[in-house]
Amino acid sequence: MRALIVEDDPTLAEQLSQAMIAAGFVTDIAHDGEQGEFLGATETYDVAILDLGLPTLSGIEVLTRWRDQGVTMPVLILTARGDWTDKVAGFRAGADDYAVKPFRLEEVLLRAQALIRRAAGHARPVIQAGKLQLDSQLGVITHDGSPLKLTAFEARILTYLIHHHDRIVSRTELSEHLYEAETDRDFKSIEVVIGRLRKKVGEGVIQTRRGEGYVLRTAP
Ligand code: CA
Repeated sequence: MRALIVEDDPTLAEQLSQAMIAAGFVTDIAHDGEQGEFLGATETYDVAILDLGLPTLSGIEVLTRWRDQGVTMPVLILTARGDWTDKVAGFRAGADDYAVKPFRLEEVLLRAQALIRRAAGHARPVIQAGKLQLDSQLGVITHDGSPLKLTAFEARILTYLIHHHDRIVSRTELSEHLYEAETDRDFKSIEVVIGRLRKKVGEGVIQTRRGEGYVLRTAP
């Protein structure tokens, strides 16, 4: 999963980023409103963490512009303690959730994960996909009850496919959720990792649809 963090406090942005990376995310950080608005409008993210008090463009203005351009990703806003009007303005601009500063990193992480699974249509934190089970809070994937040994990149791919099981995920879509903005997207390495994953999750679970992409099937 891929997250955009728009936060002008460099220490806080870095802490958030590290917590999300440790939970299996890839992250991009923007330190002002204009850069954040640009990244959110041009790149693909599973969730955005958006501070409201930002230089160059306020968080509310960033969010308003994203929504005006049809950007639908879940957005969690960061607000100052006790500022009720901020929350109202945020929700009116299209925010999905908020956290009040100072917050615990774990709380923001849990809220971000909940937004992502909700956006993919899953009500519970544990997502069952055939014999595969993803605990989206702990980031643990099991097969037939046994935890799978996965590299970080394998886990990222499988997590995305489990969230979107039983539908075709194109290589382009998959790549957009796996890499930071500055990284070259490499379909060949995705293909190689899919090959390795197939051996771990069992025959026929991850299918290739030629010219279309991949499907994680939960029934034969
Ligand atoms: Ca700020």
